[in-house]
Amino acid sequence: MSVYNFSAGPAVMPKPVIEQIQRELPSLNNSGMSILEISHRSQQFEQIMADAVANIKDLMAIPDDYHVLFLQGGGTGQFAAAPLNLATKHRSIALLDSGHWAAKAGAEAKKLRFHVTTLATTESGKYRELPRLNQTIPANSFDYLHVTINNTIEGTAYHEVPESNIPIVGDMSSNFLGERYDVKDFGMIFAGAQKNLGPAGVTIVIIKDELMHHVDGIPSIFDYQLNADKNSMLNTPPVFAIYASGLVLKWLKEQGGVDEMEKRNRAKSSKFYDYLDQSHLFNCPAFKDDRSLTNIVFSTTHDKLDQAFVEEATNAGLLNLKGHRSVGGLRASLYNAMPMAGVDALIDFLYQFEKDHKEVTTHVSN
Ligand SMILES: *Cc1c(COP(=O)(O)O)cnc(C)c1O
Repeated sequence: MSVYNFSAGPAVMPKPVIEQIQRELPSLNNSGMSILEISHRSQQFEQIMADAVANIKDLMAIPDDYHVLFLQGGGTGQFAAAPLNLATKHRSIALLDSGHWAAKAGAEAKKLRFHVTTLATTESGKYRELPRLNQTIPANSFDYLHVTINNTIEGTAYHEVPESNIPIVGDMSSNFLGERYDVKDFGMIFAGAQKNLGPAGVTIVIIKDELMHHVDGIPSIFDYQLNADKNSMLNTPPVFAIYASGLVLKWLKEQGGVDEMEKRNRAKSSKFYDYLDQSHLFNCPAFKDDRSLTNIVFSTTHDKLDQAFVEEATNAGLLNLKGHRSVGGLRASLYNAMPMAGVDALIDFLYQFEKDHKEVTTHVSN
């Protein structure tokens, strides 16, 4: 039985990459040493790091006045690092409250005694659509605007970056390299690798040079300038996670890059959304224009039935379809490495499940 992993993260990785890791694991490039053993100061690893940085720059068409850093601590670490590094003038940040992860970012900044102002929220509508700015941001009041570009838990995404007269810090944890964005629209972008890139353990930070400066009194490990000066090797980096992510970056380039990924992700997600929209059992709460390409949130709207769905799907090899504990329901993550065959298998399963549960089909339209 083939198995498809729809987890939001850690998540599916490309099969050819897993196979390459398996082949290379005992001895990297005939060195007699495993990637699990080699020094981060070795020439071999320096090359792996340099290739990974160059490939991210190439895939995202990153302008020359940005740095690419590999850090640790995940997206959660960046909720602290971003204000510590960037909110030095006003000690004040603005936020678009699009759901769980935006709120977490705001809470972490507050914990560090930064001022956090929510400029727009869609909380009252249960985050089924995205908050949007309807005024210019007052000049000289905030250091940056925090935007969760893809809302992993609510299943929404900004396909257009909000217009902003202050730098945007974009949390792309769950659609990094899955959709084309113009890096120039951002002061900074961050993403944990474990959603749409590689294994857990490395966090990518892309930052505009003019926003980077030495900041007194912050932990070295979170100091962007220091990490840039040290080529992301201020301390021992997560060697394996960077290596594996590097292989995925090469795979992405072979496949045709970000534009091709976006094309495939659009094809996969629209096929699934189309199924949900005509279904008399399954419902998709996210507003059409704001729907994520990578995380599709849906439900039967009956808790018991959702639970039965997850159990039966698991038995059929369709794994990790349970929604996030904070919103319940169901969720299918269709990241870059998820083939169309996985989506087809999932749709076939939904079709059969719906047929088997005709008694509860009360159509809930969007
Ligand atoms: C998963 C996630 C995070 C948290 O990431 P960690 O790497 O687990 O700290 C932050 N933001 C978004 C949008 C996420 O999906």
